[in-house]
Amino acid sequence: MASNILLLGLFIATFTVSLASDPSPLQDFCVANPKGSGLVHNGLASLFLSLSSLFRVNGFTCKDPKLVQADDFFFSGLNVTGNTFNPVGSKVTPVTVTQIPGLNTLGISMVRIDFSPSGVNPPHTHPRATEILTVIEGSLEVGFVTSNPNNSLISKVLEKGDVFVFPQGLVHFQRNTANASAVAIAGLSSQNPGVNNIGNAVFGSNPPIPDDLLAKSFQVDAKTVDLIQSKF
Ligand code: MN
Repeated sequence: MASNILLLGLFIATFTVSLASDPSPLQDFCVANPKGSGLVHNGLASLFLSLSSLFRVNGFTCKDPKLVQADDFFFSGLNVTGNTFNPVGSKVTPVTVTQIPGLNTLGISMVRIDFSPSGVNPPHTHPRATEILTVIEGSLEVGFVTSNPNNSLISKVLEKGDVFVFPQGLVHFQRNTANASAVAIAGLSSQNPGVNNIGNAVFGSNPPIPDDLLAKSFQVDAKTVDLIQSKF
């Protein structure tokens, strides 16, 4: 009896984990076809093009493998410095399935993050990915916060060549502590990791969350909330 319950628990745990990650590929590749017209080819193509607009799949439908080219797995430009001229002083250049259609179903992507002196990549989460980051120029103060009830801050200063991990779903940030620019490269365990910037989500939603609700939530007055909302 006890072992049955244990097995059931293991099954539920395994099932839950698999639901929360990108699915495993069942073929060599499934290059994204945003138009959904790659389901078939030849004479039926136009019929299926119209039909496929009715279907919704997790990710994108596959381009005809016979039409796949090297460029479907290719991106150029991660050597280009991102424009950090903005209030937070950082810029993320994503390389996800949007930039590389061949990433569809492969559960991986990457970003370049540029920082001006004292620039911040503000607290955010990736709903679908763990992130592994390395500093290739400068140094960064990085950290993440564990979930309730402890909310422990796990943070560290990274130098060039150091690597740090931000577990999936947890709030995390980076800050350039130096007087020179900094650059980081990160891998993410999803073709489409997603980003929730905490400030944008809480204070910049459309339509806004009522300011009296936020005032009570953050234990400040509504005017303070209005001020913060005006920044987003
Ligand atoms: Mn991140």
